[in-house]
Formats: sequence, structure tokens, C-alpha cells
Amino acid sequence: MAATPRVFQRLARPPPHVLTRLSHPQPWRQHRAFQTRVQSSGVPDYAFAFDIDGVLLRSSNPLPGAHEALTYLQRHRIPFILLTNGGGKSETERVSELSEKLNVELNVDMFVQSHTPFAEMHEYKDKTVLVVGGDYDKCQLVAKEHYGFQNVVTPGDLLCAYPDIWPFSKVFMDYYKSFAKPLPKPFNPANPAESLKIDAIFVYNDPRDWGLDSSILLDLLLSSQGHLGTLSKKNGDASLPNRGYQQDGQPALFYSNPDLWWASSHPLPRLGQGGFRVAFDGLWKSVTGGAKLEHTIFGKPYQPTYEFAERRLRAHWKALFEQVGLNDPLKRVYMVGDNPESDIRGANEYQSPHGSKWRSLLVQTGVYREGAVPSCEPTVIVKDVGEAVRWAVEDAKG
Ligand SMILES: [Mg+2]
Repeated sequence: MAATPRVFQRLARPPPHVLTRLSHPQPWRQHRAFQTRVQSSGVPDYAFAFDIDGVLLRSSNPLPGAHEALTYLQRHRIPFILLTNGGGKSETERVSELSEKLNVELNVDMFVQSHTPFAEMHEYKDKTVLVVGGDYDKCQLVAKEHYGFQNVVTPGDLLCAYPDIWPFSKVFMDYYKSFAKPLPKPFNPANPAESLKIDAIFVYNDPRDWGLDSSILLDLLLSSQGHLGTLSKKNGDASLPNRGYQQDGQPALFYSNPDLWWASSHPLPRLGQGGFRVAFDGLWKSVTGGAKLEHTIFGKPYQPTYEFAERRLRAHWKALFEQVGLNDPLKRVYMVGDNPESDIRGANEYQSPHGSKWRSLLVQTGVYREGAVPSCEPTVIVKDVGEAVRWAVEDAKG
């Protein structure tokens, strides 16, 4: 059985009457734990970030206490955001589904999913990017219509234009033809200046067709300057760094989510986007004889995602209290999650550029179950999101 963190023994095991009160939303307001810490200005100096699956929802159903916890924070104007490694739909669509399920009014600016940070990668907005993963063309629509990327190509577009790019996917042609669009340019290895050039690869969501997607990724990462159908002459040149691999203007590669597994209704977890990534890493090593593969991974537990989340949180704080200055410190941020490897590790390792201290609260309503030893030790283990909020409100007084 996991050792219970000392701080939990001290604060997270309240008297039984408190737990009884927690099951009813009204007495929350009366209990002293919910007399929130505010600065003399009346502005709370702490905030929350909540994971969604296993914390607020399970198999798309609201978890007990989720509605009450979020309603309590809204009533007391304590800022919070939702921070998930999920994705594959626009933030607007996801927020409206979530608002309905939890019966809480949520704003799209309070919501960060795995690919939301791609929206701020302005350097690629007028370039041509490949968007990989997700159902149909949903992710490319997010990139184009919500994030403002002007030229988006999908593996399905390439397959429909050039079915021999991965002949084994011809059996799925009806699916691809239902959404594929013409390429902005043909690819013509003989005349690179007139040929389709891909400047960046964004894996938005779990790839559906690993054979097609990994073949196209491999082609691009071995190409000259991102021109499909070419092979860089630098590949394998031992006089160059990384033996010449990825030294010839190939597109940068970004993943949105590192999770190896995800929980579906199947009895065993299923491979997620992280599964595709490690499979592709193996392929890359075999093809290149062990060259390094440069790439960037977003999503929890990585620093860029927490930095992005903190920016959103600070903006939300400022929107709630206009007297908050741009450099005012948010003293503490409480990350509430069910996954030790993503939610908890991310919060524990995060280095806030604003000097905020992040604390991690592990709930037992999702991936982590009572009695297991968490792979990353949280600040505290709590029963559910209601207990997490109550613990944090008390802790924030200290
Ligand atoms: Mg989760």
C-alpha cells in the first residue's frame, strides 16, 4: 500500500462530519474550510487546474462532487482552468459538451486540451503543415478554422492524390474520399521549386492509420527541405551532426500528447498517441541505423503545456479581477488529476516563470486507485475532486 504523504495525514483526513457535509452542496459555504484565502485587496492568490477524465468525468459521465466543486469556485471567484491531454475536436465543441454534462457554465478560454498550444505557433501559420491523427478531417478543421493555419494538408489528402504513397490504405479509400481535399500543389521531385513542401508536422490526436501516417512522416523526415518524393543527400553522412539526419531543412515534428495508454470501455487500456510515437521511434532507429529523432512533445507532464496553462490561468485571474497586475504573483496553483505520470509529474516538475508554486492532488476516481504506489508522489492523495478542492482551500490559508 502506498505510504500516505504526511501532509495528507495532517490535513486531508477531516473529521467525519466534514465528509458528511461534503456530500451536500449547500453546507460547503458554511464550513470554515471554505472561507477562502484572499489578499487584502479581496483577490484570491491561488488557483486550480483540473484534469477532466477521471476527475470531473468518467466514461463521459459526471463524477460525484464535480458540479459542486466547480460551482463553489465560480461562486467565490477563485480562478480555475481545465487542462486535459485529450483532443481531436475544437475547444468550442468540447467546452459546450462539458458545460452541458457538468451543468456548469464554462468559457473556452478556461480550457486547454493537448493541441491548444499549437494555436500560438504563429511562425507556421502561413506555411504548409501536415496535420496527423483524429477522426475524418476534424483536426485539420481545428487547425484551419480555429487556430488560423492557412495551408493544412492531411495524410488522407496525400493518399487520395497519390494512392501509391501507401498502397495498403487503398482499402480505406471510401473513408478518405469522404473528406479529402485537393493538395495546394502537386509534388514534383524533379522541380522542387514547384513542388509541395511541408514545413511542419503536427500530430494532433491519436493516429488512426499507423501505416499511412508513419510512411508519410518517414518520407518527410528523410526528404530534402520537406519536398515529398525527395531524399536528402545528407542522410547518413558521418561528417555531419546526427550523421546528416534532419540536417537538411526537413519539417519540424510536434506531438500533442505523450500518453502511452488511454482508458476505453475495453477491459484493458488501449495504445494512445504515445504508442504511435514509440513505434515510430523504433522505425526511425531501424531505418537510420540509430540516428536521433528531433521532435517536441506537448501535453502533460511537459513544461511547455504547463507554461501555456499558467498563461491562460493568469489571464482568467486578470479577467475576474481587473486590479490584478501583469506581474502579480499567483502564489499557488493546485493541479487536480488522476494520472500520476501526467497530471502529478507535470505539476511537481513544473518551473513557473512567474514563481507560482504548483501542488499536485491525486484523486482516486480515475487511473489511480487506492492502495497502489503512485509512480510519482503527489502533494496529497484525496478521494475525489470535492475533497481535493476542500483540501486546497484549507491549504491556501497557510
Ligand atoms: Mg485523467
